[in-house]
Amino acid sequence: MINIVLFGPPGAGKGTQAENLKDKYDLKHISTGDMFRHHIQNETELGKLAKSYMDKGELVPDEVTIKMLKAKVEEHLDSKGFIFDGFPRTKAQAESLSELMQSKGTQIDAMIALEVPDEVLVERLLERGKTSGRKDDSNEEVIRNRIKVYYKETEVLKEFYKKEDKYYGVDGVGSISEITDRISKVIDSL
Ligand code: AMP
Repeated sequence: MINIVLFGPPGAGKGTQAENLKDKYDLKHISTGDMFRHHIQNETELGKLAKSYMDKGELVPDEVTIKMLKAKVEEHLDSKGFIFDGFPRTKAQAESLSELMQSKGTQIDAMIALEVPDEVLVERLLERGKTSGRKDDSNEEVIRNRIKVYYKETEVLKEFYKKEDKYYGVDGVGSISEITDRISKVIDSL
């Protein structure tokens, strides 16, 4: 198995790149944000709970997020590996993911972090908000809060993976295909 954490602030291009990479490397793409949006669309209890956090740009609590992620991984254990997009976002999530991978006799091979300046992120998200229908993309205050939460709670995970010698930074500014090539170089070197 090959398991990648695709990392970066909101608007870094994780979802777009994960879609390209999952086809190229035949991996299962797991996006916790997409999973929550699916629950919201289906008006489930989890969807209602998640929405109350997502609309403000806050993180959904670890307990429910981890539970949902684990169930998804269990469903796809026959795949060649996973691309995790938007997970982990907290230290507790990263620790759970390590344990989960270990319990399946595998591991996270790399955290690939897309590096994009904040002002480019805001611009990209506002642009995406015009067509994505995502409430959290159309309000600049919510966008700035999501970026703030990233720096406060999530960015520390770079250190978590650096300690394990699994951190790879990639320039996330450029054309979609250029960035896919940069990420592919990292994956091919693993
Ligand atoms: P994303 O699609 O990854 O930008 O996620 C959209 C929103 O879903 C985030 O702003 C959070 O509110 C929530 N979310 C997604 N993934 C997670 C996660 N791993 N932990 C907590 N909240 C999450």
